[in-house]
Amino acid sequence: MASPPSENASPPGLTPRPETAPALLSIVCPAYNEADNIIPFHKAVSKAMRRLAQPFEIVFVNDGSRDETLLKMRELRSVHPNTAIVDLSRNFGKEIALTAGLDQARGDAVVVIDADLQDPPEVIGDFIAGWREGYDVVYAQRRARHGESWLKKATAAAFYKMMRSVGPAPLPENVGDFRLMSRKTVDAVCALRERHRFMKGVFAWVGFPAKVIQYDRAPRAAGATKWNYWKLWNLSLEGLTSSTLAPLKLSTYFGFAVAGFAFLLGAFFIMKKLVYGDPVQGFPTLAALILFLGGVQLMVLGVIGEYLGRIFNETKQRPLYFTNAIEASDVEAPLRTGEEAQRAALASRSVA
Ligand code: UDP
Ligand code: MG
Repeated sequence: MASPPSENASPPGLTPRPETAPALLSIVCPAYNEADNIIPFHKAVSKAMRRLAQPFEIVFVNDGSRDETLLKMRELRSVHPNTAIVDLSRNFGKEIALTAGLDQARGDAVVVIDADLQDPPEVIGDFIAGWREGYDVVYAQRRARHGESWLKKATAAAFYKMMRSVGPAPLPENVGDFRLMSRKTVDAVCALRERHRFMKGVFAWVGFPAKVIQYDRAPRAAGATKWNYWKLWNLSLEGLTSSTLAPLKLSTYFGFAVAGFAFLLGAFFIMKKLVYGDPVQGFPTLAALILFLGGVQLMVLGVIGEYLGRIFNETKQRPLYFTNAIEASDVEAPLRTGEEAQRAALASRSVA
């Protein structure tokens, strides 16, 4: 009798990792004004890790919080030495805070998670299971968006749809930053040092075999979301312009279309004159056309300007962030060998 395939069987082509690994799991958590969440968050994560008997470190990134977030982190670190703190010099935004945390993480697998308990730490068990199957990325896809308005849901859906049609690598829908990455993937992500970063785009761009896990996203435990519609709009612009040149191409096509339309319109007026001898009552048409063309030109200039601004920022070659202090955790980093160590060395060189 043939034995049934084992539960843990990896999909074809993937090499399963040993049941005991990862030797160290890094949990990276960017936090901005999360004073009320840090301690409950730590409790929830520790509980989940205890249940999994998984050695771990937590890398907190204080993203220039104006409340007691840093104090709470330090409080935790004095009791739990497996806590690392990266204290950024000011608020750099979640994307950069996340990068700072990834730079600091030393585990052979790294989980990225929000501080507000919207990402349930229990899912990390499923992440690790996926990692053992041989996947390099295991990400969580929200089944439901509780506590979010229909407008947020609708705009998010529209954004993903647009990115799917013009982006270089498909962005998985309803997926946040909550995910587990192998050391290889983290090194790849850390090697991309562009200043305009859109982490979802970066994660998608580096590739590697990925697995999806469904989960329910809870409403925020305490505090308020830092994303308003203006910030979300800017994040979408960032996502679009940092990962694709499609808007530039679209402007070109749009220009062609408008020119074609103008040509046909011109031909129509000439024909009208020739056939009916109709003197053209031109002023309103003319005014409308000039205004229309002016508008189109300004819009296209704006698109070009977006890219130009990004080139400007990238050429400055500034470091991504500055820190007041980096307080490492006391856990020992797993030994790395060969290619991995080389890649890590390369990545750390480009951080400096
Ligand atoms: N965050 C950050 N810097 C910022 C904004 C947010 O580090 O400038 C952190 C925040 O503390 C939280 C995570 O990013 O841990 C997600 O933020 P939020 O909950 O506001 O976003 P949402 O869940 O609404 O997408
Ligand atoms: Mg949140």
